[in-house]
Amino acid sequence: MNRRYRKTIIAGNWKMNKTATDTKKFAEELKAVMPKAKWCDVVVCVPFVNIPSAIKAFKDMRVSVGAQNVFYEKDGAYTGEVSADMLKDLGVKYVIIGHSERRQYFGETDFTVNKKVHAALEAGLHPIICVGESLEQRELGITMELIALQVKSALAGIPADKLRKCVIAYEPIWAIGTGKTATAEQAAEVCTFIRTTVRHLYGARIARSITIQYGGSMKPGNASELLAQPDIDGGLIGGAALKANDFVEIIAAANQD
Ligand code: PEP
Repeated sequence: MNRRYRKTIIAGNWKMNKTATDTKKFAEELKAVMPKAKWCDVVVCVPFVNIPSAIKAFKDMRVSVGAQNVFYEKDGAYTGEVSADMLKDLGVKYVIIGHSERRQYFGETDFTVNKKVHAALEAGLHPIICVGESLEQRELGITMELIALQVKSALAGIPADKLRKCVIAYEPIWAIGTGKTATAEQAAEVCTFIRTTVRHLYGARIARSITIQYGGSMKPGNASELLAQPDIDGGLIGGAALKANDFVEIIAAANQD
């Protein structure tokens, strides 16, 4: 983390877990144990249908609500899709874009990721843009090329003044939901590379100010070490964000003086 130049953001990704009733219960549990998050922003990205209950439940807690996906068109005949304006109107602040599960199961591509980033920014949302390599790609030694391609594609056509609203999450696919975490060195190496890529695109000032998260089996036991890396400005957390006690421990790790 480097709090002098950029925000630390701890974001939970609930994926397809929890009902609206569970959301309310989680908020109550979190409220009971939540430290004063003075150094970091806290976000919970819930399934679309839980957004209204999450907005209500987290209202007085300095916890922002995020969505896990968005469609890039403004409106129209796109059955089953949800637009950025619809999310914004509900009070959503962040939206995850390009999560590897969406790339793997729902045909998300670098091209659609870019269109969604544009749509999210236009509506005033903060996109959390996910990038990351598979185990095969890592073993082939093409991680950095792939990450550069994903970052450049996601940000294509995004003007510099909008970049402050973007968050990039480095999520090695082999570490998501597997219990296998990237070592702090592996995670830091790629996060630093992402910042360098942004620097080449937008210059040093903007690169210094963008929040870059790590995601992939982050949990209470490894959060402090990962967050101690200067280019890791927070976490995108799946499994450990489903339990209030675990989530709070990660928030506490980001809050350390
Ligand atoms: C994620 O869903 O983005 C994620 C990192 O999941 P987990 O923490 O469970 O690996």
